[in-house]
Amino acid sequence: MDLHLQGKVVIITGGAKGIGAGITLAFAAEGAIACILGRNSAEGQELVNELKAKGQHADSFLTDMTDEAAVKQAVADIVSRHGSIDVIVNNAGGNDAVGLRNSVSEFTASLQRNVVHYFTLVHFALDHLIASKGNIVNIGSKTAVTGQGGTSGYAASKGAINALTREWALDLARHGIRVNCVIPAEVITPLYERWLAQAPDPVLAREQLDRLVPLGRRTTTIEEIADAVVFVASERSAHTTGQMLFVDGGYVHLDRACTSEASHLKQS
Ligand code: NAP
Repeated sequence: MDLHLQGKVVIITGGAKGIGAGITLAFAAEGAIACILGRNSAEGQELVNELKAKGQHADSFLTDMTDEAAVKQAVADIVSRHGSIDVIVNNAGGNDAVGLRNSVSEFTASLQRNVVHYFTLVHFALDHLIASKGNIVNIGSKTAVTGQGGTSGYAASKGAINALTREWALDLARHGIRVNCVIPAEVITPLYERWLAQAPDPVLAREQLDRLVPLGRRTTTIEEIADAVVFVASERSAHTTGQMLFVDGGYVHLDRACTSEASHLKQS
């Protein structure tokens, strides 16, 4: 299937690591110009070099997404180097465990790290998206709909991202701009590995995690998230907007009884 992404200019925030790196690789493989915005220039450049060595197109822009001026500058630099912006993938962020015992300023800082920059980037890129009739893919999290405990800032941010997906889809439909959200639940990335490593028995913790997922009893791969993002961003999804796409092996929506260890629950 031709996704018609050849030559499209795609911004991926946090695109040098974890899910973001998978998304960068997937767009580049489809012939897009993958533009990484990240705060580690060495990592970004390393991935760009790897893609260029394969004859693919990528670029990297040192940008801390919480720095408004840096985001504005990155948008200007991308347009100056590549001429347009066709797709924005808002991905940078992470579960920072800012809970109810943290201070109000720590909660506010978590919102800055996890949702405010989704707005910042779209705000500064808006005229370019309108010109290209482009589209936006937001990366959400299961925590927006399930909660997790101990992570008020992250959960609130991801809830807001779902709301902004619907709000922007409606707001921008008159310009032909689509806005969707891809929602992972359990994906083993550097961020997740750091979290698992804190468990008393990381191997057992990983096995227990796998068993919770109804489809295949395994976590979702980075590539499975990336493929969903690329498809939703492509013209093959031309009439899909305002959607929350859960790519999670049924983790969030299927009956918990199916992964329960208690056999009487499985029979009910
Ligand atoms: P990751 O492995 O930590 O990668 C995140 C990338 O984003 C890193 O390169 C990180 O840079 C960058 N980043 C974070 N904040 C940034 C900022 N302010 N400015 C610039 N770059 C920034 O995380 P991941 O697991 O791939 O998560 C990616 C997205 O998926 C996040 O939105 C997360 O909420 C969502 N998600 C992940 C899972 C999962 O199971 N992994 C589940 C649900 C949702 P540094 O290396 O410098 O930190």
